[in-house]
Amino acid sequence: MIPQSTIDRIIDAANIVDVVSDYVTLRRAGASYKGLCPFHDDKTPSFSVSPARGVCKCFSCGKGGNPVHFIMEMEQMNYVEALKHLAKKYGITVEEEQMTDEQRQHLNERESMFAVNEWAANYFSQTMQNHQDGRAIGLAYFRSRGFRDDIITKFRLGFCLDAPNAMSDEAKAKGYNEKYLIDTGLCVKRDNGTIYDRFRGRAMFPWVAVNGKVVAFGGRVLDARTKGVNQKYVNSPDSSIYHKARELYGIFQAKKMIAKEDMVYMVEGYTDVLAMHQCGIENVVANSGTALNEAQIHLLHRFTNNITLIYDGDEAGIHAATRSTDMLLAEE
Ligand SMILES: [Zn+2]
Repeated sequence: MIPQSTIDRIIDAANIVDVVSDYVTLRRAGASYKGLCPFHDDKTPSFSVSPARGVCKCFSCGKGGNPVHFIMEMEQMNYVEALKHLAKKYGITVEEEQMTDEQRQHLNERESMFAVNEWAANYFSQTMQNHQDGRAIGLAYFRSRGFRDDIITKFRLGFCLDAPNAMSDEAKAKGYNEKYLIDTGLCVKRDNGTIYDRFRGRAMFPWVAVNGKVVAFGGRVLDARTKGVNQKYVNSPDSSIYHKARELYGIFQAKKMIAKEDMVYMVEGYTDVLAMHQCGIENVVANSGTALNEAQIHLLHRFTNNITLIYDGDEAGIHAATRSTDMLLAEE
């Protein structure tokens, strides 16, 4: 719960011209401003912003509203997320009220897990770009698959060195608590109490949730070890910040374009998502390795009612497509 006094401060601070200008180039037109609508494929400037009234509106598609409505639509956030987004922009501290000690502890634990995941995503990316093995093994793999550097950067792809504790030692040296390395699944605890890096020797695909936070990782085994290995990918286990069955890979990078195109492509795996982006198709997600389920459908429903399934042409893919179609129809 955000206290009403804080909500009032945020709404007072949020200047509609300022907020919209982060996304749209505005030109003054009399008492208002005009620009190309960010919500539809606009050829003429249909988007009008009224500083006097504190609102914006597209005269073609009708979308707009006050700064909070604009951010909700633009960032595909709910009301509270949009308020927090604006609070951050204007340097307003949001003190949530009436939390018990237990709730606060839980919140701190989640924040600590997000923090270590965020650090790890950067570490894996830096390792792949700067470490000799990272370049020779990880980067070479993505390049051999034909992925461009801009796609590697956009999806924060990386590499975990093939050593039991290369990542975890670095994390601990940076002050991250071993507990959160285990809770996030970045490390596995042995029976004797020591830990090792779960993803050692793997190409890394961070899972970024709809709110932009790194919630998990997928790791693909590389080199000769792929021969005879039936499971090429290892995923983070479910945790208090990650429920595989509720997430969709690529949702963060796709959400704006899904809303804009009012359509989403659903593909099978990580590299399908990357390949589509590389071709300029950005409204795409993968339900990587899980059967499509209701929670994932509800997540997509926030952005669009239209979905196109592109699964592999093998028996498993055809089966998944017919099953998923029935579920999508059932969820309208
Ligand atoms: Zn519009």
